[in-house]
Amino acid sequence: MTNNNTYNFLLSELKNLKGVGTKTSNLLKKKKIYNIFDLLWKLPRNYTDRSVSSKIKDLKIGEIQTLTVVPFKYNFPRVRNLPNKVFCRDDTGQIDCIFFNSFEGYIKKILPMNKEVTISGKIGFFRNKHQITNPKYISEDAAIIKDKHNKYSLTEGISEKVYNNIIKQILQKLPYLDEWHDKNIMKKFDYINWNQAIIELHKPENIGNYQSNFYRRLSYDEILSSYLVHSDIRKKIKKIKKSRKIFNPSEQKKILSKIDFELTGDQKKTLNEINDDLKSNQKMFRLLQGDVGSGKTIVALLSAYNVVKAGFQVAFMAPTEILARQHFDLAKKILKDIKIDFLSGKSEYKNRKKVINNIKENKIDILFGTHSVFQSKVIFKNLGLIIIDEQHKFGVNQRKKLSDKGGKNCDVLLMSATPIPRTLTMTIYGDMDLSIIKEKPKFRKEVKTYSKLENKMEDILKFVKKEINKNNQVFWVCPLIEESKKIDHTSAVKKFEYLRKIFPNKVALLHGKTSSEEKEVILKKFLDNKFQILVSTTVIEVGIDFPNANVIIIENANKFGLSQLHQLRGRVGRGEKESSCILMFKSSLTDNAKKRLQILKDTTDGFRISEEDMKLRGYGDILGFKQSGMKIFKLADPVLNNDLFELAEKEIKYMEKNNINTLRYKVLMKLYDQADILNDIV
Ligand code: ADP
Ligand code: MG
Repeated sequence: MTNNNTYNFLLSELKNLKGVGTKTSNLLKKKKIYNIFDLLWKLPRNYTDRSVSSKIKDLKIGEIQTLTVVPFKYNFPRVRNLPNKVFCRDDTGQIDCIFFNSFEGYIKKILPMNKEVTISGKIGFFRNKHQITNPKYISEDAAIIKDKHNKYSLTEGISEKVYNNIIKQILQKLPYLDEWHDKNIMKKFDYINWNQAIIELHKPENIGNYQSNFYRRLSYDEILSSYLVHSDIRKKIKKIKKSRKIFNPSEQKKILSKIDFELTGDQKKTLNEINDDLKSNQKMFRLLQGDVGSGKTIVALLSAYNVVKAGFQVAFMAPTEILARQHFDLAKKILKDIKIDFLSGKSEYKNRKKVINNIKENKIDILFGTHSVFQSKVIFKNLGLIIIDEQHKFGVNQRKKLSDKGGKNCDVLLMSATPIPRTLTMTIYGDMDLSIIKEKPKFRKEVKTYSKLENKMEDILKFVKKEINKNNQVFWVCPLIEESKKIDHTSAVKKFEYLRKIFPNKVALLHGKTSSEEKEVILKKFLDNKFQILVSTTVIEVGIDFPNANVIIIENANKFGLSQLHQLRGRVGRGEKESSCILMFKSSLTDNAKKRLQILKDTTDGFRISEEDMKLRGYGDILGFKQSGMKIFKLADPVLNNDLFELAEKEIKYMEKNNINTLRYKVLMKLYDQADILNDIV
């Protein structure tokens, strides 16, 4: 089969298969199974062994048994609610086959009079007789029944038998795929080819064998294909030629002399990486990644400044008004010789009009703001750089659109404080170049992390009182009991009411139902120290500096993942003061929970914490990446198959360096990543 036919077959609709009508295909669509390829990855979870047959006298009641019998009498009462019966026997006894809702004709066909048939099903016993109700596994060909039958996680309305038949058909017709030309890779997986591996994985004896080479080689294809797609996006963006941004490095030094700290080694390193991109004639598409408080903002501002000095405008966007304003305020302080302005959804009409006009006429060098800076009405005269802060939830598609938006001369810099495990970097951010800040600024005070049992509330309140008397502020995070917003809401409201009585006029509340405008107002008040305790359920936006807040209390802390706790902890400890993070627990901790907690107490390295978090909870849950359209693998597992992710990364780098692009790569991408984004590429 040619490659074209291969993927045409694999991507064809299920309706083309025997036994799949519109009804079945619609049921499968509900489970996001649209074509043959999708179905291949629904592997059996278990099997029922129907291979050993018993005589009637030895049947075990209540268990699934296989037996060979001869029907000797029909009983079709033709009365509503009374079942049809077929009486059968072998040389040791009798058994009744009971049929509800089956037609006589059908019954006579599957259980013909005086012919030997093999039946399998659950054995019942009623009025002193063995019986079997609505048996589905019946055949005159014993070999069909006497086998191990796979159990898949079934879609409602599709029986095990039908499902098995569909899979069987597909496996019989399964085409070959072009194999790896690289003998080393083939050798690594015992020279097992693609379709052989799939067929094996559907065999009962290989169920759950994730370490088998069948499983591993298919996982590898899957990982590689997602890297290939990313790599293609990256290459495509880099092909865009832009005019070089020429600026004088001494200008950057002038700004640095105005701030009262020295850049860390990693800040310098990442700034150089960005500057090199700006100066090149290839479009930049880069992520600046660094833990909370690692000092990304100054790096971004210096890059923005350089771009302005090279004669271009910059758009600097943050997800919330407050965060955008903090960046704007900092820029006002240190970037005195250029023109900057601010635009958000709340900007008044007159002001907004003025800003939009000034942008068009190139009278603004850097525009700070929220999503508003990307409205179609905002037309930059000469946009050279887009900076986006704290948007780790942008998926690949959104990022790609963003990079198209600014036009050809526009570089793109994204920033994120969400540390992710090393293994997942290519999966989540493979479409971008990466700059990572690992080093924290010197003299940064570490947040002290404590754990407390919930019944020690008195101690905690005493502590809070002391801090408030010192004019400090406190975040109080309430438990996420369920995914249900209603329950969260109640628990936060209750805590708010409780604390308000103890600390009158000092407490405010944020929860899932607070509108985003209201939220901004409350956060602004907190920032201005108008109240001292902020009770919240919703995770407060990353990135905002609350220099006066130095305590965070997290209730029912075991409901959060480690990465989440780490991020929450990062909300405090930005100012001069000693800060603390108090993790509250309902009851004494299990050994496992203690271990988790220790990691958090031992390290402030977000990368390490995310690594441990992934091992404990799986990769899909890490900080809600699942919702961001992140690639979810069908087989591959970043913890289990860590080595394969590394191998695939090496392969991609080799392939990029040597400009290799085989037909196999294209087929892989087309099959495994049926995303919209591919329409552009393949
Ligand atoms: P993030 O990476 O989380 O965005 P910020 O850029 O907000 O971090 O920086 C956090 C704080 O650290 C700010 O108050 C900033 O002024 C300060 N800071 C940044 N770089 C340094 C440095 N090299 N030395 C000391 N303080 C720094
Ligand atoms: Mg930040």
